[in-house]
This record gives sequence, structure tokens and C-alpha cells, in this order.
Amino acid sequence: MRHAVFRLFSREPLHDPTAAPDAGARHEVKTTTCYMCACRCGIRVHLRDGELRYIDGNPNHPLNKGVICAKGSAGIMKQRSPARLTQPLLRKAGSERGAGDFEPISWDRALEILTTRLAKIRASDPKQFALFTGRDQMQALTSLFARQFGTPNYAAHGGFCSVNMAAGMIYTIGGSFWEFGGPDLARAKLFVMVGTAEDHHSNPLKIAIADFKRRGGRFVSINPVRTGYSAIADEWIAIRPGTDGALFLALLHELIANGLVDRAFLKRFTNAPQLVVLDAGEREGMFAHDPDPAKGPPGDGRHPHNKLVFDGASQTIVAAYPEGVAEGVDAALEGRYALADGTRVAPAFALLRERVAGCTPEWAETITGIPAARIRALARELGETALHEAFELPIAWTDAWGKRHPTTQARPVAFHAMRGVAAHSNGFQTVRALAVLMSVLGTIDAPGGFRHKAPYPRHIVPNFRAFNSPDMIRPDTPLNAAPLGFPANPDELAIEDDGTPMRIDHAFSWQAPLSAHGLMHTVVRNATRGDPYRLDTLLLFMANMAWNSTMNTVEVREMLNRRSADGEHAIPFLVVCDAFRSETVEFADLVLPDTTYLERHDVMSILDRPISEFDGPADSVRVPVVPPLGECRPFQDVLVELASRLKLPAFTTAAGERKFSDYADFVVRYETAPGIGFLMGWRGENGDEHLRGAPNPDQWRKYADNDCVFHLRLPESMHYMRNWNREYLDFAKEKGWRQKNDVVQLCIYSDTLQTFRLAAEGKTPGRRPPPHLRERIATHFDPLPFWSPPLEDAFVDRARYPLAAITQRPMAMYHSWDSQNAWLRQIHSHNYLFAHPSAAAAAGVVDGAWCWVESRWGRVRCLLRTSEAVEPGTVWTWNAIGKADGAWQLAPGADEARKGFLLNHLITDELPGDAGPVSNSDPVTGQAGWYDVRVRLVPCAAGEAETTSPRLFARGER
Ligand code: SF4
Repeated sequence: MRHAVFRLFSREPLHDPTAAPDAGARHEVKTTTCYMCACRCGIRVHLRDGELRYIDGNPNHPLNKGVICAKGSAGIMKQRSPARLTQPLLRKAGSERGAGDFEPISWDRALEILTTRLAKIRASDPKQFALFTGRDQMQALTSLFARQFGTPNYAAHGGFCSVNMAAGMIYTIGGSFWEFGGPDLARAKLFVMVGTAEDHHSNPLKIAIADFKRRGGRFVSINPVRTGYSAIADEWIAIRPGTDGALFLALLHELIANGLVDRAFLKRFTNAPQLVVLDAGEREGMFAHDPDPAKGPPGDGRHPHNKLVFDGASQTIVAAYPEGVAEGVDAALEGRYALADGTRVAPAFALLRERVAGCTPEWAETITGIPAARIRALARELGETALHEAFELPIAWTDAWGKRHPTTQARPVAFHAMRGVAAHSNGFQTVRALAVLMSVLGTIDAPGGFRHKAPYPRHIVPNFRAFNSPDMIRPDTPLNAAPLGFPANPDELAIEDDGTPMRIDHAFSWQAPLSAHGLMHTVVRNATRGDPYRLDTLLLFMANMAWNSTMNTVEVREMLNRRSADGEHAIPFLVVCDAFRSETVEFADLVLPDTTYLERHDVMSILDRPISEFDGPADSVRVPVVPPLGECRPFQDVLVELASRLKLPAFTTAAGERKFSDYADFVVRYETAPGIGFLMGWRGENGDEHLRGAPNPDQWRKYADNDCVFHLRLPESMHYMRNWNREYLDFAKEKGWRQKNDVVQLCIYSDTLQTFRLAAEGKTPGRRPPPHLRERIATHFDPLPFWSPPLEDAFVDRARYPLAAITQRPMAMYHSWDSQNAWLRQIHSHNYLFAHPSAAAAAGVVDGAWCWVESRWGRVRCLLRTSEAVEPGTVWTWNAIGKADGAWQLAPGADEARKGFLLNHLITDELPGDAGPVSNSDPVTGQAGWYDVRVRLVPCAAGEAETTSPRLFARGER
């Protein structure tokens, strides 16, 4: 390795393709899984005498089929990066956090320090330990560790990434995009992509789009910026950020007004015909239900079977199931009815129609900037393609009520959406609107539409309840529920009796009741404030919280170093585990050097985020292809080691001995239930059982021999309509993916949301939000989708700040991971702010000039480029190219620090509230409102420095 690093800086080329092959060398090709971004492509790593030569795509891999991107190929330079951490580091006594003044220590000492500290916390108050992780792929392990430790203070990056996309879709259709489902471009005729950056689902989606376009499919991209996917779309529709919900509601208005909805689908497979109580009171806005307690409790979205519908054929009210779906029954979608006791009711669909009645294309034009005529034409195109260009596949299947369908109905309109739609404080209801739009077109798990990937669909609401009682947090005791889950009603919130949040990030409190992925972006501030309590130890893994993973970066860096009156840090002990010397590492008290993805075992597990395909479950692994550099140790091994030293029950035998030697051993032997473990393939004593089976110690070898992938193709009869597919639902339950084999009806109308609204309105007994949050909950927990401006709009003068500012990841870099990569730095060493020529001209800034971009919350000096490929009211930049000077071992004054800039300085992490500041997040899920900031452009004064500002230094201000 020393030799390789030396050569990296020599003039001698690393690889001379014209040279004769070195016949005496040992050449090897090992397969594993890429981790230069989160897409999990299969790769082949080529080695000579054990040294990395190059990386290419694995043609046998189901996801990328041999395709590799610039990042994937550049993995070799990640391995050789000078920014690698190579040994544990301890902050020198008396040095400031942020100064990066460390002494190297041994692993024994690092583990002893950590074990002693954690054992003390666990024996007294386990919630004083918090574990938050970045864009990792091992949440099945990290969440198990937190739960076994007994702390609720655990989450990964989802709360500041795309939890609105996950929760909005899962609470509506039981699944979501990317790992959980996606567009069936093999059969679609029209593909509509909304708010998706160009690296998202990267190679697999690009392969699918290429095939789709070759077949003559039409691709429409809706995005404020015309780069990446939008650049190759047949049509780009420019939209103002944060307004997608208004567009979706206008499309719903047009589709419903023109009868372009799949009525048969809505009646049988959604809750559209179910009757909603209209009378004021405790049951207002909830579904009317059969009072028989055996058919399930009221007000719980997990019990769809006890609801009622009006049968137009018999003119009577009948049980939604099975009577409502019996032959000859015509469940009404419209009208007003009365129950036997006089209660007034209406089908949910009638309420949806009324909701969107005023959402005309003209209304949406004023919000989105898209001409009304274009919205009308798009609605017509969507409806006509879904309904009039539909076809049937000769695949018979049986639905949950026993009806045999001789064919499978295709609806060839596919959508894909992601963070551009989600990362707004109005994102949850926007995503709900999209999911309802997809549902009225009948495209859910239909050929050519949206398709689930195992283990989805989940129940609505999924049967994962987060911990919800302070009694669950006990010394030396695991939590008896997972730290994260999906609340179905206020009783499932993690709050004290007086409404105080129980988690440090305030997840599952009245501030963000459905925060299924936690709120990592609030942790540093809340812990510093002691709100609701102080932490002792914060362990961050792969999370750059002192830079791009946080809003209001300058203040967060100050908070990381803030001291209480007693002189102790407000966050007393900060542990950072990373493979590279990021900005956050400099603030750590203890640094744990992680391995790269080429040096360790990893699992893309069915218990977490597998790589399942539409036709069946798939998981994959990483195996070490080179030895760890220096003293690097996989974080997974460190967790298993800590868990063993702390004697956490799942990691300890009855005799008190450690159960697992390391992570690799843990993966093949640990079971969550009999026969169910982290890996699905080659289970059982002989390795011939799949999905469920006894542990197989030989499992890693089987994966290594099979391109590191296990993929089980299910029979065609289980490929579609899985929310209602009896054969699939039974299979999924048997394999442990679901607790029940119940049908998953689509939630056009969400009675789950209504339970929170009723509590806020004081109409139900039990838990109620504190007074200052009641109106917020009552507004945003609307059971029908609606559009409202992002929360930040209420505090910003739009005339003063006329532009929206957004970021996206470039194709060639992933978050802040790649500025240490010598090859990728040649593509992006700094970023520009891109503005429409009209916006630049209005501000008096010219192309290529330095200028200020200012929000109410801060100002940044940056280089501006004009571009026609952006909506005129929007400016944008690449995320996280800008770096603190000296971070990631970049040379002092490197482009990244001098010319690159971070838009985060303009974004506030809190907004004013009636009873003090509230997080700048979606009120439903806590999703960070990254893309809500309003800005203006200001020319630089003559003679101003031509460098970015604020200019921060990795190891303290100079
Ligand atoms: S898209 Fe590129 S970086 Fe991402 S996993 Fe695939 S090859 Fe690796």
C-alpha cells in the first residue's frame, strides 16, 4: 500500500494499458457490491498481486447488469485517498473541539473508554446515549444495538432526506419508491418523473429509461431544473419548488371532472367507497364501522374490514367486506347517505371530489407557474394513457376475497418521485396527493404502473409501533419496542403524560407525530439545549453534522463545542466513526476509523433495505476484497464488540459469554424469529432453503460464489396486485415479511390522520397536543391531501426574497463523500449558483461573476452562472461540493474551500413558533424543509475578495 500511495504522487502512470501483461503476477477478480452511492450496483474488483487495479460493473448483477458510473469506477481512488482515517484518535486534553488536535490510541483503549462510559449510562439512564447514522446500509444492526442498549435515541438519515416520500406513500399505498418499489418501465407507455436528482436510483433507472425510450415510451420530467434525467426527457415541465402538491391536486381535479378515473379499481381496491361520518363529534371524519367488536376497533387504520359502503344496487348500507365486493354489489363513490341511527355519511371519494373541486388548473398555474393549458393536457394524457391505452396480461390471480381474475389489468402510466417533492415542510401532504393521483388511475402494482418490491407492500399502517411509554426505558434493559415505527393514533406517540417528547430529536411527539425515520437534524440543538433532557454520549456514524448534513451549519458547529455553566461540553462526549477525515471528525472526542466498502462485510438485508426486484425478493452483500488499511475496523464489528462487552442480551449467551465473534459471524447465526435472519439465501443446514430456514455457517461463501446476490423469482401469479393478491399475502406472512395476511386497501382518505386531528380539536378523549401545536396538528393532519405553502413562507417577505433556492447531488459525487477522491475532484472541484438569465439580470449580476446570495437567515458569497435550464424563479447548486478549508485532507486553499460554497448557511433549522422556536420541518413527519428557503441575489461590491464567504476552516478559524 505504501508503494501504491508513493506511486500515486509520482509521474509514473498507475496503469499503462499498452504495457505487456505482467505474466508473473497473480491476477484476481472478486465480486462485491458498490457503495460509492446508495444504489448498490454489482461490481467486479480487479486485483494484481492483491492490489487494486480497477473496478468495473458486474454483468451478472440483476440491478446494473454490468453498467458502472463514474463514481463506481472511481472507488479505487477512495481506497487510496489521503483522507483515510487509519487509527483511533482521542482529543487531546485541554484542546478545543473543532481544532482536530488528537492523539492516536489503540483499539483496546478506545473500546475500553467507550465500554466503561456506555456501561455506566446503561446502568443508570440508557436514554443518555444516542446513536445517529448517516447514509449507511445497516439499520437492521444499528437499530438492534440501540434497542438492546435500551435507548430510544436512535435514527438514520431518513428524517433529513426523504421520509416524506416514504411515509406519505406508505400511509397511502403501503409502499414507496426506490428500495420499496418503482416505475414498471418495461410496460409503461408514459413515464412522469417529479423532483428526482440525476443520481437517484442511478444505473438501474438509466438502463430502464434507455429501454423505455427505445420502445417509444414518452418521458415527461417535472422539475425546477433541467439537468440529468430532465435533460433527456421528451418534455421538461418547469415547476416552482414546493408547489408539486398544487399540481397533483389540479391533475386530480381534471381527472375526476372528466371521468378519467379507474372506478372499478377504486371500488374494489381502495377505501374510496367507504362511508365517512359527517356529523360533528368524536366520530367526525372517521369511517363509519360495524359496531361488532370482533370486527376490529374503530379509528384504527390497521383494521379495514369493519367499514361500511352504500350499495347502489340494493340501495342499502352493507359491510365493505365481504358484502361490498360481492358480485352484483355496486359500491357508491358519490352521494350522501344516513346510517340506521341517522348518522350522516358520505363515500370518501365524494369528499375527495369536493376537496379538489376548487383546485382548477388556473388555481394551480398561479402557484406552480405551469400554464393551466399544460396542466389540462397532462391530465388528459395521464387519464387517456392509463384507461384507453390499457391492456391485459394473460396472468391469472386471485384476490383477497377469493375472486379469480383471469388476467392482470395493466395501467401503463408510471411515476417516479423523490427528494425534490419530499424535502419541503408541505411534503407529506404533497406525497399523499401523488399517491392518491396514482391510485385513481389504478396504477398501483399494476403492469406499466408503480410496482412494489418485497417485503412491500406493508399494512397501512405498518405493524411497527415505536416505543411509546417512559416505562419502557429502564436501566440495563432492552426497549421492548423498536426505537422507530409507524404510529397509527395518538396513543402510539412517544410522549410523556404532559406531552413532553421522550426522544432527544422529538420524533413521534406532537411536533412530528409520524416521524418514521426520526429527526437527526434536530439532535445537536436539542441536546445542547437539554430539550427534553441532556445526553451524555452522542455517537455519530458516517454523518457529517458539522457540515452539509445540517441546516444552519455555522451555529451547529458552535453548538458542538458549546459548554454549560459548569465548563463541561453541553454534549459531554462525542464519538465519530467514519472512514474519512470529514468536517465532523474534527469535533470528536473519540474517533473510530471505519473501513471502506471494499474492506468489509455488509448486508443489504430484507430486514432493512434489500435490493428486491419487481418479480421477487433479492438481497446482496459486500465481502472484503482487500484487507483493511492500517488499524481500520468495520463499524459493524465495533458494534458487535461493544454489544458483547456490554453483555446486551441478543449478543450474549445464557452463561454470560459473547455469542458472536464478529459481524460476519453475527449475520449468519442471528435470527429475529425462527428461521429468519439477515440473509435470505442459502439457509438451512445444507444451504438449500431460501427466505426461511435454519442458520447456515456457509452462507457467506454461497453469496461470494453467486456474485454476492440472492434473487428468488416468484411465480407470475405473485408479480402484481400484491396489496390484494391472496397467494402473495399468504406467502409474505409465511416468510415473516408481514404479521398478518390482511388485504392492503389504498387510503384515498386517511382515518389515521383524522385521529390526530380529532385529538387536536379536542373531540376525542385521551391524549391532546399542547395548546401551541393544536392548530398546526388540526391543519396538517387532514385526511385528504391538500396544498399549503411551505411553513417558512409565513416568515419571509417574498418581495424582498423573490427566488427559491435548492440543491441537488451531481451525478459524479454522492453527498460529501467524494471530495477526497482524486478522479472525481477533476469533474467537480467547486460549485456555482445557477440562475436564470432573467433573475441574474434583474439583480444586476452577470454570468461568471461573484455575487451574494442572501436569505433572511444568512448570506453566502458564491460564483454565479446563468442558465436557461432552470425555472426563472429558482436558483440552484450542487450539494456539498464546498468544503471547510483543510477538511478531507484537501490542500489548504483548495478549490472546494475557496470557490466552492455550501448553501446550508442560508437555511434555518428553526422557525418562530407561538411558544418558542419549532423545527423547520414538516409538521407531520419532521422531514427537514431543505428546499423551502427564499433568497435574493446581490452583486458584490467593487474590490471584494473573490473567495466564498463564510469561509470556514476544518481545524479552527485562522
Ligand atoms: S450508481 Fe455508480 S456509484 Fe452508485 S452503486 Fe451504482 S456504480 Fe456505484
